Amino acid sequence: MNYQQIFSEIFEDLKGVDNIGKVADYIPELANVDPNHFGVNLTTIEGDAYDYGDANIRFSIQSIAKVFSFVLAYSRIKSDIWLRMDLEPAGTPFNSLVQLEYDKGVPRNPFVNAGGIVVCDILVSELENPKSDMLNFIRTLSDNRDINYNSKVSESERLSGYKNYALVNLMKSFGNIHNDIDEVMDLYFSICSIEMSCRELSESFLFLSNNGIVPYSGEQILSSSRTKRTNALMQTCGFYDEAGQFTFKVGLPGKSGVGGGIVAIHPQKYAISVWSPRLNVKGNSFLGMLFLEEFTTRTELSIF
Ligand code: GLU
Repeated sequence: MNYQQIFSEIFEDLKGVDNIGKVADYIPELANVDPNHFGVNLTTIEGDAYDYGDANIRFSIQSIAKVFSFVLAYSRIKSDIWLRMDLEPAGTPFNSLVQLEYDKGVPRNPFVNAGGIVVCDILVSELENPKSDMLNFIRTLSDNRDINYNSKVSESERLSGYKNYALVNLMKSFGNIHNDIDEVMDLYFSICSIEMSCRELSESFLFLSNNGIVPYSGEQILSSSRTKRTNALMQTCGFYDEAGQFTFKVGLPGKSGVGGGIVAIHPQKYAISVWSPRLNVKGNSFLGMLFLEEFTTRTELSIF
């Protein structure tokens, strides 16, 4: 299939759409991005890569990093992580406090902020050097040694992260945070600040299309059963309270972030990443959602 041509046809067709999305500015440092960036990459499990637009410019991956931290915990940690969080769609905004009180400090899933924070708490308990271990893990997945944290972004979020501090304090009050809050939040804000390009994101998600095996190295990251479960979680919980819409319109498991990135995978076939910083009201990339909907419709390459 000529993906490059399909990308440019979809891009041309979407030019007429009024991009009503807005760049995330609740983390002040994120507001500095040029809102008109647009990039796409598709990489197949055979290693064929197709770029379009700003596919090789790095951006803040934000909540997409929750997949990496979850997989690291799920693959290496012996304790039962499902005692600490649930695996159901939240149906509430990504940083909502409402459900947490009803559920006595247990987040709905690992991909809402509260769940991502509990995963960080687990990693702080179980890893010797959580920050460098996390970075090394992502570098291994993408075979790229210079992927890094952006300390300006993490510091900007630390200074403005009142909701996230409210979440962690509420969970601590219920006994679901075991470590020092500042240490946990340092890891959380750091992983959100990681910068990667569309191409690097596709490469690093390919193991989820390939039964848990990194195609280029042959390393088994997750068993195929846990890979299936991780993909199921992305399908049901990867897009805040728009996971149903994403499933309905795009039909792939994936994860978005407020930096405007979306990664989605097709088992046994490919990983695709899109970046467009303007977000819709639910916090997902406005153009990214439309682009992926057109992509799976025209290529008939959704999982449904
Ligand atoms: N660092 C962001 C936050 O905690 C991540 C949100 C997101 O990308 O969904 O608010």
